[in-house]
Amino acid sequence: MEEVREGRVVCHLGKGLAVEDENGHIVLCHTRRRLGDAAVGDRVRWEPCEGEQGRVLEILPRRSSLVRPAYGGRVRIVAANLDRVCVVLAPEPEPDWLLADQILAVCERRDIAALLVLNKTDLPGAPALDEALRDYESAGYGVFRISTRTGAGLDTLKQVLHTGCSMLSGQSGVGKSSLTNALLPDRNLRVGELSAHSGLGRHTTTSATLYHLPEGGELIDSPGVAVFGLAEMAPTELAQAYRDFRPYLGKCRFNDCRHVKDKGCAVREAVEAGTLASARYERYLKLLDRLGSAVEFSAG
Ligand code: GDP
Ligand code: ZN
Repeated sequence: MEEVREGRVVCHLGKGLAVEDENGHIVLCHTRRRLGDAAVGDRVRWEPCEGEQGRVLEILPRRSSLVRPAYGGRVRIVAANLDRVCVVLAPEPEPDWLLADQILAVCERRDIAALLVLNKTDLPGAPALDEALRDYESAGYGVFRISTRTGAGLDTLKQVLHTGCSMLSGQSGVGKSSLTNALLPDRNLRVGELSAHSGLGRHTTTSATLYHLPEGGELIDSPGVAVFGLAEMAPTELAQAYRDFRPYLGKCRFNDCRHVKDKGCAVREAVEAGTLASARYERYLKLLDRLGSAVEFSAG
């Protein structure tokens, strides 16, 4: 009887999966039918089969997963067993704070830690973002200020990333690829190794791939995935996903308060009193609005 082993899905290769075994070797695996969709970061049980290939038998339970909407109302898993998402921002392009809040809310909901990375601190526009960033610091989010151009702040960020599995996200142009390159000096070796397993398909750098960081921890590089869908979130869950709202939730006069214009709303009172950041609250209202339209859309 062949031994059954454990491994980690590193990327998709054609119709197969590149699975990393206990020794860090890549094994090209087919999947058993009706296994379900395996995603980058999944822990799996697999057995060796002919040649140097394997067959995935089972996807082990996920600690977390990030999904995005796919055709036909289905969802696709972007990454499994993710511990942390870094929302990357920069003075240029101008920050999309609404997008940042959306990503943070989805992470909160999915029990994935999140932090903010302000890149391009070498640009003169960086200090102007301090006030907005302080709102996040008050909400309990870590904010890291870096420049991939000068290397400033990179060591501090690396220390955080060297445990667990992380992913970068954010608008295009903020420097995610630059940061990925700075974090993964040996990335091309890995890409070459994956491409060498050409039996089931070629590896392209545009597919989501899990890399090991030199000092420990992993980074899932998922180019092109900037936005996480809010559609799965119920309106009451959005407020829960705003960390800074938590101290006030449950103190509103009405149980089903959406914190919009309701009388006796503790969240609104905190905004008026200046203890809760009004900018975050204004964006909450916008996201809530989007949520409403998303729900109507899928219902109609
Ligand atoms: P991505 O779209 O988020 O992957 O962003 P890129 O990594 O492709 O970077 C977008 C642009 O910003 C490129 O022209 C980079 O050279 C530039 N860039 C990246 N990091 C920095 C930085 O720290 N400072 C400055 N001034 N420019 C940067
Ligand atoms: Zn309220």
